[in-house]
Order: sequence, then C-alpha cells, then structure tokens
Amino acid sequence: MPDKKSSLYSVFNNKCPRCHEGDFFVTSNSYNLKKFGTLNDNCPVCKEDFRREPGYYYGATYVSYAMTVSFGIALFLVLCVGFKVDAIPYIIILSTSLVLLLPLTYRLSRIIWIHLFVRYKGEKKI
Ligand SMILES: [Zn+2]
Repeated sequence: MPDKKSSLYSVFNNKCPRCHEGDFFVTSNSYNLKKFGTLNDNCPVCKEDFRREPGYYYGATYVSYAMTVSFGIALFLVLCVGFKVDAIPYIIILSTSLVLLLPLTYRLSRIIWIHLFVRYKGEKKI
C-alpha cells in the first residue's frame, strides 16, 4: 500500500489530489452504475473545486485512451503471443473486458487527469 502522501495512494483510493483525504467521487463503488461517474463538486475536507471549468475533463479521454491501448497491447501479448489465441477470440475477449472495465477506466482517467494539475498540499488544512 502506497504512503498516504503518495499520489498513487490518492489515485487508487479516489481521494482529493490536494489533501488526499476527501472523496473525489460521490460513491466509492465503481460498479454503482447510476453514480459511478458523479464527482463531488468540492472536496469535503479542503474545499478544492473538482468541477474547475466546463470541459475540464475532456483531457481525461487521452488518459483513458492510453490506458485502453496499453491494456489491449498487454492482453495481446498474453493471449496471442503467450497462449497462441487467434484474432477473433482476442477481439471478443478484449471488447468484453473493455466494457466490463469501463467504470474503472472512466474513474481512473478522471482522477489521473486532475492529479496532473493539482499538487498535494500536505497535512495542513487549507
Ligand atoms: Zn481535499
């Protein structure tokens, strides 16, 4: 488990990038399909604005794209190179996996994106 001061801790626990304590999303369950993508407007602890500006999270699509392509390449190497699986089963497995992982990818891409622009401010309250 990463240190609480680490950005990895904050990203994988869906915490505020500034204080690493407040929740970034309304629900901690990624598979609550009605609310998995709903952000808190502000951090409940330090009041960091998570809504920042209209269109702010469009940039998260680049992060999502990079994660999806990386996953596809890794799956290709494991299945097609390692286990000699044909292309059609690979495509079916990849498509199914991406649909099932969509809530995780969506949330991770947004929280990674905001971590690129907001720095941790330590233990002090802001
Ligand atoms: Zn905070």
